[in-house]
Amino acid sequence: MKSKKEELLAQIDRAVKTCHGCRLWRTATHAVPGEGSSSATIMFVGEGPGYHEDKLGRPFVGRAGGLLDRLLLRNEIRREEVFITNVVKHRPPDNRAPMKDEVRACLPFLIQQIKVINPKVIVPLGRSALDIFLKDKLIGEMHGRGFKVGNRIVFPLYHPAAALRSPAVLRILEHDFRSLPKIVRGELLPVEIEVTNGDKNQMKLI
Ligand code: URA
Repeated sequence: MKSKKEELLAQIDRAVKTCHGCRLWRTATHAVPGEGSSSATIMFVGEGPGYHEDKLGRPFVGRAGGLLDRLLLRNEIRREEVFITNVVKHRPPDNRAPMKDEVRACLPFLIQQIKVINPKVIVPLGRSALDIFLKDKLIGEMHGRGFKVGNRIVFPLYHPAAALRSPAVLRILEHDFRSLPKIVRGELLPVEIEVTNGDKNQMKLI
């Protein structure tokens, strides 16, 4: 039998699958709502589904997903125990970055997923996801550190796809990832950041 949280996530999935809130559904094969544990402590948020994700309706199942899987394994985190989703739930054509109106249209789904799962740590992968949680901040400056945002910790990482393109970024991502279990266990304390007006609005989201 499904738990209450699993029921709620299934409802969100159904709403995502029939969503026509922006143009992306027209060119997509499958919606990709996200997957994982409904009571995950860690939630990963990527940018949007790519080619393989669109084909299968599952997040991070292509090359970037393979790298994410290896990083999880190496740090003794099981993929089934986390929740993995994206900022936009339909694939942007040609893997372009999602447009502002597409992000705005899709954001309620991410917010609902966060509310249901209630993760302690949110890991934005790359700059599109970072911008949701910490507005106008650069991934190059924020990666690898935990930031206290409301009751949660936001722990930004470089996107695995960026790491596949650059050995230097891969080394940084591998290094940063090792801090994730320590952040979760409370052995590494999050940074209290100075809150700007933009950030205040973001905090209301999560
Ligand atoms: N890149 C993303 O941002 N998300 C996926 O699901 C796959 C690749």
